Amino acid sequence: MAAGRRGQGYMIGMARRTGSPDAPREGTGTHRFLALLAASFVLFAAPEPAFPESAAQNTYIRCVKNGHQQMKAGDYQAARDAFREALQYIDDDAAAHLGLGLAYFHLGDDTGAERELTRAAGISPNSWETYQWLGEVHYRQDNLEEAAQDWERAAELNPSSSEVRARLERIRREHQTEKDFNRDVTSHFLVKYEGREKIEAGKIVLRILEDAYGEVGRGLAYYPDREIQVILYSSQQFQEVTDAPGWSGGIFDGKIRIPIGGIEKETPGLRKLLFHEYTHAVVRSIVPRCPTWINEGLAQYFEGREIDAHQREIMRRMAQSGKLPSLSDLEGSFMSLNNDQAFYAYLFSLSSIRYAVDTFGMYRVKMVLEQLGSGADTGKAIDKALMISYEEFDRGWKRSLE
Ligand SMILES: [Zn+2]
Repeated sequence: MAAGRRGQGYMIGMARRTGSPDAPREGTGTHRFLALLAASFVLFAAPEPAFPESAAQNTYIRCVKNGHQQMKAGDYQAARDAFREALQYIDDDAAAHLGLGLAYFHLGDDTGAERELTRAAGISPNSWETYQWLGEVHYRQDNLEEAAQDWERAAELNPSSSEVRARLERIRREHQTEKDFNRDVTSHFLVKYEGREKIEAGKIVLRILEDAYGEVGRGLAYYPDREIQVILYSSQQFQEVTDAPGWSGGIFDGKIRIPIGGIEKETPGLRKLLFHEYTHAVVRSIVPRCPTWINEGLAQYFEGREIDAHQREIMRRMAQSGKLPSLSDLEGSFMSLNNDQAFYAYLFSLSSIRYAVDTFGMYRVKMVLEQLGSGADTGKAIDKALMISYEEFDRGWKRSLE
């Protein structure tokens, strides 16, 4: 794909299906969207009273502000605690309930998120943000109908938000496509697909995913406690629902979505694709916002992608002539990169993660994820987990290639 433009694309993890150099691609539409909402959410803070009425009110406002700051810093546990504390002083203001709902959402507690957001909507029924987030919760619970209702309400309250309309438009297409799908479950996955001819494909996919659950789980010593949804589409449905480009082999945007024909047996390509997307799902449950080079590096690592002699030689020359980018330049989305740039970005991601695993062990790489998950920026996470600076890590990786 030329430049990774995909309309309203919500892709988070994407693997390329065919063609050399077969680098998976990535986008961060959902993250961008959530970040936008989080930014707008800050504006929706507790209203400053003209005349502070009581000590309780002042403390409430201070706690809510603190909650927002923790939220911005990505420390959702601290944010949850701050909003909970706020509610001990004033319980009938929407801001703290909304904040607490959001903190729960990011911590993966859908029950808590739904309860608090519903309460916030009850107190302040005209807040489009509240409905927007309720929609996110219901969407994650696979309750597409309620999510659509929430987003319709959000769109009514804020007709100028193109993000809300895009979300609504997409869920309608998704709902339309999936309403007649069959469902298959194991203890860790829910797989949805249409048509009896896909029953066998569904079984194969589930079997591979259970392998991935075990292998990636052992590698990262992490097993998501939430069921992961997997949706199997025909090629055409996949295009319609995801706006994904033709080469795309699958995506992870909170759910694993893959186009699948009438496969009858497991293929190495399918296995790699599912391991790749499943790794994104695991990374996402450890850290909601992960630097792309780490996320893509790990996904390729666990899919078993190798770096061939030719690629190694390219990197060696680049390392010697100082042409390798800094890893900090590979933290953002790879979406806007052209084909060539994306090939290199994926290669560097895999190479640097391999270096990290070989040098420090997967155990410490996992600690980087945990640090990121508790709100550290990349530099601090590497510093704490690997006990060297980001720059030193970057230099060490480059030296290892020469
Ligand atoms: Zn990926």
